[in-house]
Amino acid sequence: MQPMIKVILKKNRDESLRRFHPWVFSGAIAQIQGSPAEGDIVAVYSAEGEMLAMGHYQLGSIAVRILSFDGDPRDPGFWTASLARAIAAREAVGLRCDASGESAPTTCFRLVHGEGDGLPGLIIDWYDGVCVLQAHSVGMFRSKGRICDALRELLTDRLKAVYDKSAGTAPFKAGLDLVDGYLYRRDGFVQDELPVRENGRTFIVNWVEGQKTGFFLDQRDNRALVGKYAAGRRVLNLFCYTGGFSIYAASGGAESVDSVDSSARAVSLLEKNIAANRDSCGEVTFGNYCADAMDFLASSEAGKYDLMIVDPPAFAKHRGALKNALRAYQRLNASAISKVAPGGLVFTFSCSQVVDKITFANTVFSAAAQTGRSVRILDRFCQGADHPVSIYHPEGEYLKGLLLYVE
Ligand code: SAH
Repeated sequence: MQPMIKVILKKNRDESLRRFHPWVFSGAIAQIQGSPAEGDIVAVYSAEGEMLAMGHYQLGSIAVRILSFDGDPRDPGFWTASLARAIAAREAVGLRCDASGESAPTTCFRLVHGEGDGLPGLIIDWYDGVCVLQAHSVGMFRSKGRICDALRELLTDRLKAVYDKSAGTAPFKAGLDLVDGYLYRRDGFVQDELPVRENGRTFIVNWVEGQKTGFFLDQRDNRALVGKYAAGRRVLNLFCYTGGFSIYAASGGAESVDSVDSSARAVSLLEKNIAANRDSCGEVTFGNYCADAMDFLASSEAGKYDLMIVDPPAFAKHRGALKNALRAYQRLNASAISKVAPGGLVFTFSCSQVVDKITFANTVFSAAAQTGRSVRILDRFCQGADHPVSIYHPEGEYLKGLLLYVE
């Protein structure tokens, strides 16, 4: 193996690495011995010359994303060992790759969640045998062949396909050849879409045309709670995508379920998902609308709904967008709180990583105050267990939600 390029930290800047934080910021670096290309594996040393960790080198304020604190990520077994650990963590909470087909309650979940699985920059979602991979760093993008090999080795005949969907996530400035496509397809597996199961419901997921990897797996537990509280209620699901919350509300006994999304493609998959779950949805009336959620809410009659789900896309994708994003969250939540029927419930979420849970709660507080209604927080939510957060990297907790009871 080639000797590794050394990244040497400034004096006293090794603290966070010793506490297993997975990033090295460029400002902490005293010297780089050699000239690494973006995505190369480098070794990080303290000012005193002790080797601390190895990781992917990248350009920008985060200079190294750590892959290992105690081994060499270039070792042949590195990827199989790392992915096996991720699979074991899912199995610990009952999410198994060997659960398959219509009889299994849940056949889709996140298999690898970046920093939360010690693999910064890598996302892999599992859809009943199909792995959809998104690289968020050049290092992970360049490793995708080895990752695919390791998935094949670990999952053997359970694996139907590995689809690389990194074109929208990998750093475009790096001049990579960013075209989505299959890294592997089992003989005879030709489709881009599969019905998968989540808590006993069926969802059709299209990883090629869908948003992100095809489905928003992080809301699984929160969707189940909506199902639990929906009985007899008139439900409005804003930013519904392909209807995850809508299906749970309907099968939980809602009187009616209106769903709104601005994407026509999402609404068309919502219709397919309603059809796929018809048997478990009873007599519920569905209204499916391709519209702007704010406009829809503004023009809807006050008191028409007694359970609302407000799950918008990330309004703040980076710190610079925070102020405007908070204004948008406040406006949206004020509108929902003012419109929900007395005694109604509002499930409200933010998936912006830069909006922490206290800031989000304060924003919803301002929204409530603006309406003058009596509002209580009944519950608080986060991402599911298959989206783990490294205890050394609390920034990984990105999904926040509140259940409001509005009098
Ligand atoms: N709750 C969904 C995930 C929501 S993702 C689930 O459980 O699957 C956010 C969704 O908001 C996307 O489907 C996107 O198309 C939609 N969206 C973005 N801007 C919108 C707008 N202004 N009005 C309505 N929908 C919007």
